[in-house]
Amino acid sequence: MESTQGKDLVTQVALSTGASQAEAEALGEVAGADDAANALFAPEYQTESSPVHRTVWDDHCPVELFDAPTPSAAQGRAKAAMDAAFEIVRRHQRAGTYVNGDGPYAGKLSDALIADLGQVGYYGALIPEEYGGLGLDFPAFALEETRMAVIAPSVAMQNSVHEAIGAVGPLLFFGNRQQREWLRALATGNPQSCFALTESQGGSDLKNMLTRGVITDGEIVITGQKWFITNVYPGGLMCLVCMLQGPDLSPSPQVLIVELPREENERYWLTRYKLSALQELRNYGVNFNGLRVPLANWIHPKNVSNGLTIAYHLLNRGRVSVCAVAAGRLRSMLQHMRLWGRTRVSMSKPIDQRDLPLEDYARMAGLIVCADAFRDWTAWLLQKGYRGELETGAAKVTVTRLLNEAMERIYPQFWGGRALDVCHPYSQQVTELKAAEIYEGHNNMLCLAWFAALTKRHGARFMMPIFKRVQELGLQRFDPANPSHLWQLRKELPEYGKWIARHHVDLRGHTPLPAMPRELARYARAAIHGLQGMAIVMDGAMREHREDLINRQGVVQDLVLEAHQYIAVLVTALHARHAGDPVVELAAQTFCEEQLRRLRGGRRTREQHARLVELGRMVREGRFHLLDGVPEGEVNMPWEA
Ligand SMILES: Cc1cc2nc3c(=O)[nH]c(=O)nc-3n(C[C@H](O)[C@H](O)[C@H](O)COP(=O)(O)OP(=O)(O)OC[C@H]3O[C@@H](n4cnc5c(N)ncnc54)[C@H](O)[C@@H]3O)c2cc1C
Repeated sequence: MESTQGKDLVTQVALSTGASQAEAEALGEVAGADDAANALFAPEYQTESSPVHRTVWDDHCPVELFDAPTPSAAQGRAKAAMDAAFEIVRRHQRAGTYVNGDGPYAGKLSDALIADLGQVGYYGALIPEEYGGLGLDFPAFALEETRMAVIAPSVAMQNSVHEAIGAVGPLLFFGNRQQREWLRALATGNPQSCFALTESQGGSDLKNMLTRGVITDGEIVITGQKWFITNVYPGGLMCLVCMLQGPDLSPSPQVLIVELPREENERYWLTRYKLSALQELRNYGVNFNGLRVPLANWIHPKNVSNGLTIAYHLLNRGRVSVCAVAAGRLRSMLQHMRLWGRTRVSMSKPIDQRDLPLEDYARMAGLIVCADAFRDWTAWLLQKGYRGELETGAAKVTVTRLLNEAMERIYPQFWGGRALDVCHPYSQQVTELKAAEIYEGHNNMLCLAWFAALTKRHGARFMMPIFKRVQELGLQRFDPANPSHLWQLRKELPEYGKWIARHHVDLRGHTPLPAMPRELARYARAAIHGLQGMAIVMDGAMREHREDLINRQGVVQDLVLEAHQYIAVLVTALHARHAGDPVVELAAQTFCEEQLRRLRGGRRTREQHARLVELGRMVREGRFHLLDGVPEGEVNMPWEA
């Protein structure tokens, strides 16, 4: 059953802020699809029951829902397949056959590599064994993505597209029995699959979707252009979101599986541009001009009337993958820094004997633990059946921001001028890392959607009745200091007044923290308190800006990023307790310390610097075991001894 709560709220608020009817309805429809996505889940797994929502708005923070167990690593056949995939990648890298040397797909992952990976089952990691896959659960899959990202981030990204958002995801969760048969071939990596939502005229603006599917004579005729589509292969399967219409269907966003033709023709062709990000993957504009697909390719389970519902579900999984790949990339950067730290002698000592480089090591170690924490937590929540909208959104935005912090402020500075040499990984990958802030939902747009999801119930419960009454009364603007206004809203105000009074007294608590080091427990408590405090802060902003808050995007973004930082501290502190490793604990501690310092302002104390340097020494000496097995890379622009 689809709820209309968010749809109505958003449409009305948009209308009241001067949006046109069409714009307000468009915004309302996107919100309605979000409600529908929520309604797919049992109540205890919907956004309002999620750990973040409960912590901000309810009386108790459910600590146990932020405390993901360590994922069980792949076992048996799955482990053998993953180990084999790892070796295949290394073999192709050594042999120079990892990417194509020439031809139209020069620089892209080679067909030989993909065929070899497919043969061992790499592309079927999440597919159940009955369909020939490896049947990994999502936390184990995410862990494997990090492992692969350390040596081959493009391979990890490709499989994340294929299995999280490409054809595998929608078929697994929404396909009928006949459609799920495609999983057998997908498990072999042949065909590859992709996900097509974005259009050139409308990336963030999902309502501005022009690609059409028209149902005629048992077929769907597709016309339009998709843009920025990753992992497009001749003969591949595309999970296409388009506006579908037919004799009994008025146009609405729907999901189709499109078997892409092997050859381009007048009904289907690619637009080739050269993106500097995801350089090793095939990313194209895809044009349809009357391409026909069987009606049976339409994915429309009974409980889903809007295809955006499916897209939202898939994107949450994709966002976990983005964190997993980031966790691998951060490892590679830090390991590469260690190589330079001991190689580069300056003023008679290797630079890794000095404080500033050691602090850089420590900050990177902290970022790695945080990325791992978000990966394991969100993958675990999705596996448990949570929708995870707030959690995966916070994870994706936070981890990609931290990745860019490393990329902009730590890694290149550490390497000095050599970072700017075209052969240095920094120069080669800088846009790859920037892109992570854009794909799977632009971070800015995700922040706005995150706020809407978090405040929807509060707005509907307390603000909406007041808002409607103010409209009925024809008041220009409600003034809480005006006794006549208070009298006229005497029915609507008391409930809200009670909420404000209760939250200002702040009697809220949390379920007990698990056994964990004292320092980490202190940070966890501070984060819970901070996140709970966001209720009053967000409510205050909603009251101050009223319906106009929808237009005050900078205000909203600040609030969201603040909440994300508390979440980062909480999950990182809890995650580190599972490691049973004092170095990981210290890395988590320094990370939490730094995040809270940024939130509260002020300089680092002498003790904080000392802790960073101490952690940096441990990293230098190889005691940060999250780097075990991570290749060091090379020194570019070497010099004569
Ligand atoms: C490497 C790469 C791979 C990708 N792979 C895929 C893929 O496989 N499949 C797929 O479907 N898509 C893919 N994308 C597309 C990606 O999802 C979009 O780029 C993203 O959603 C942003 O859309 P856009 O680039 O059109 O930016 P725009 O929507 O044009 O945004 C530009 C700026 O405008 C801002 N903006 C836009 N609307 C608003 C608003 N209402 N209020 C305030 N600010 C606004 C944005 O925040 C941003 O800062 C990929 C993109 C990249 C870069």
